[in-house]
Amino acid sequence: RPVVGVLALQGDVREHLAALREQGAEAVPVRRPEELAAVDGLIIPGGESTTMYKLAERFGLLEPLRAAVRDGLPAYGSCAGMILLADRLLDAPPDQQTIGGIDVTVRRNAFGRQVDSFESEVELGLDGGPLHAVFIRAPWVEEARSDVEVLGRVVGGAADGRIVAVRQGNLVATSFHPELTGDRRVHALFVEIVRRHLAEQAGTAAGNERG
Ligand code: GLN
Repeated sequence: RPVVGVLALQGDVREHLAALREQGAEAVPVRRPEELAAVDGLIIPGGESTTMYKLAERFGLLEPLRAAVRDGLPAYGSCAGMILLADRLLDAPPDQQTIGGIDVTVRRNAFGRQVDSFESEVELGLDGGPLHAVFIRAPWVEEARSDVEVLGRVVGGAADGRIVAVRQGNLVATSFHPELTGDRRVHALFVEIVRRHLAEQAGTAAGNERG
């Protein structure tokens, strides 16, 4: 069984742990570099990205997180997690850094600061039709460069067409919170990415032994 961590510095950790278990993964909270080193994939939950970034730095996790993503660790960021996986930010404090890895520009609180939370349909590039999404002071993807696959866009309303789900290689990010609804397609996709990555690593290791 793949072991998938949830970064547990702050935010809605429990809901992601439960969603991962539903997908057959072993789900564990991650707070320390040793715990990060022991997982096959990582979810970065929603919360508050400025706080999460500062805590990651204080816990000595920021550089290990960057190194892990650079080395190909599958990661999925929801909401604040999307902000942390973005290469570039808009409307963030000037000293707020990210882990990075996805070649996008993400705008924080993009739906308007006064908009606390709302629900909308998202056209999703996964089987099963549109997804009913919950957004909480959510970011959106302002610009996605060519290596980034757009997985989801808002349908209808003032934000019609805005990019709210992306994938680049082993990295996935959504503006919305699929852990808060019953639709498990994003978690299923992510656990599948983790499984495939594990299988590839096992193949490479076997190849090295033979070679
Ligand atoms: N607005 C938050 C931030 O900038 C994200 C909100 C969320 O994760 N629900 O981090």
